[in-house]
Amino acid sequence: MIRLFVALSFPDEIRQSLAALCAGVPGARWVNPDQFHLTLRFIGEVDGRTARTVSDALSTIIMPDFDLELFSVGTFGDRRKANSLWVGVRPNAALNRLQEKVDNAVLRSGIAPDRRKFAPHVTLARLNNAPFDRIGAYLSHHALYAGPRTRCDRFTLYSSFLSSSGAIYTPEQVYRLDGGLAEDAEHDWMADEAEAWDQDHGDWDKAEAAAYGAE
Ligand code: ATP
Ligand code: MG
Repeated sequence: MIRLFVALSFPDEIRQSLAALCAGVPGARWVNPDQFHLTLRFIGEVDGRTARTVSDALSTIIMPDFDLELFSVGTFGDRRKANSLWVGVRPNAALNRLQEKVDNAVLRSGIAPDRRKFAPHVTLARLNNAPFDRIGAYLSHHALYAGPRTRCDRFTLYSSFLSSSGAIYTPEQVYRLDGGLAEDAEHDWMADEAEAWDQDHGDWDKAEAAAYGAE
């Protein structure tokens, strides 16, 4: 099984700008800058065959490139017990459209609906008992944060490996909005799974052929 989610990744310019926000809250576990992402759809644990089905569905998505601007900061969780700190996005109809297309592709692949409303954000830190006043000070200090405008022309299917020191995300496939794949070959795990499936299927074919008295 593999834990998957679909997200936007960011160019260095954005990562650097976000990395500069990663200070000033005691006890915050800041996200490593090369792990910053904006989740479009969490998929969860699936087998290789389902992963491939999802990937095929995602590869049919086509829409125009669009601009994205990160804006302001916020928290999730209780007001007095925030559990994550994030950067938001200026309202963006094209981003919402992409999210819908991704959601539809995932649903078509047989994955259960995600009941949560899409709340576009980039997580900067996990919080665990961070002092309430320091979070408040951080939020007001960065309320007008505006990231460099960035062009979105692709999205990524990530795997997530949950380790004791936090999740590690790995890009498995990159899909261009003009319909192409950004890399020639799909990642190995998909190829491996496909091969395993073909092998099983091949054996089944042979068994069936034997049952019908064929060679
Ligand atoms: P951890 O669970 O250890 O805190 P994580 O949340 O970063 O790590 P995952 O749980 O694998 O790692 O999640 C991957 C991405 O999907 C993250 O951006 C996470 O916020 C998002 N995500 C996880 N679960 C959901 C969900 N049910 N709905 C929407 N987004 C989700
Ligand atoms: Mg999680």
